[in-house]
Amino acid sequence: MKSNGALVSFLKARGLIKSRRVRRAFEATDRRHFVPDEHKGQAYEDAPQPIGEGQTISAPHMVAIMTEELKLGKGHRVLEVGSGSGYQAGVIANAIGPGGKVFSIERHAGLCGIAKANCRKAGVRNAFFHHGDGKLGFRANAPYDRIIVTAAAKEIPPALIEQLKEGSTLVMPLGEQPQMATLVAIEKKKGGQLEMKELLGVRFVPLV
Ligand code: SAH
Repeated sequence: MKSNGALVSFLKARGLIKSRRVRRAFEATDRRHFVPDEHKGQAYEDAPQPIGEGQTISAPHMVAIMTEELKLGKGHRVLEVGSGSGYQAGVIANAIGPGGKVFSIERHAGLCGIAKANCRKAGVRNAFFHHGDGKLGFRANAPYDRIIVTAAAKEIPPALIEQLKEGSTLVMPLGEQPQMATLVAIEKKKGGQLEMKELLGVRFVPLV
C-alpha cells in the first residue's frame, strides 16, 4: 500500500477497524514515522517490521484489533507495557484525544528514546515514555482506565491488575510460548473479580 490512507481503508474493508474513533486515530497516526529508515518502503504494508534490539513494530491489523478491544473513550488514562516503536501508543493517544494520557513503559532505553522521538515526529503530544520494567506497571500514575501489554507472558503481572480501575479492561497476549499466545481481554469487575475473554491466537515477542 502506498499511503497511510490506503492502509486505513484496507483495515476498514477487512473489518479490523470498526469504530469511527479507531479509524480517526489510525488516520491521525501516520505509520511512516514509526518505521526505521531502512524499512520505510514497507511502512504501509500489513506486516511487522524490525525496529532494533530484536524487537518489532506490530503489524497494523494487530494494532487495530487490540485498539478496538480496548474500547477507548475520550480522556482515558492508559498504561502500555512495551513501547517498541511508539506506534501503538500514538494510535491510543490519538484515540483518547488531548484530554487523555498514555503512559508507556519500555525495558530497552534505546527503544524508549526512539518511541518518544517517533511520537514527536508524528505530532503526538499526550503519550509519555518511561524506561523500566513494565511488569511492575507504573504506580505513580495509577489507576488506569485501560492497560495494554504488547508482549506475551505466561501470566498476568499482578501489579497490572492492581493498577487497573474497577470496571476497566486489560488487553494482552497470554501463553506458555510467545509465538503461540492467545489475545485476551480481562475485565476487572466491581469488587475485583476478573472476567477473561479469549479473542484469537497471536504471535508476539516475549515479555521479559
Ligand atoms: N507496541 C510496540 C510493539 C512492541 S514489541 C509498537 O507499537 O511498536 C514489544 C516491546 O515490549 C519490545 O520493545 C520489548 O523490548 C518490550 N518489553 C518486553 N518486556 C518488557 C518489560 N518487562 N517491560 C517493558 N517493556 C518490555
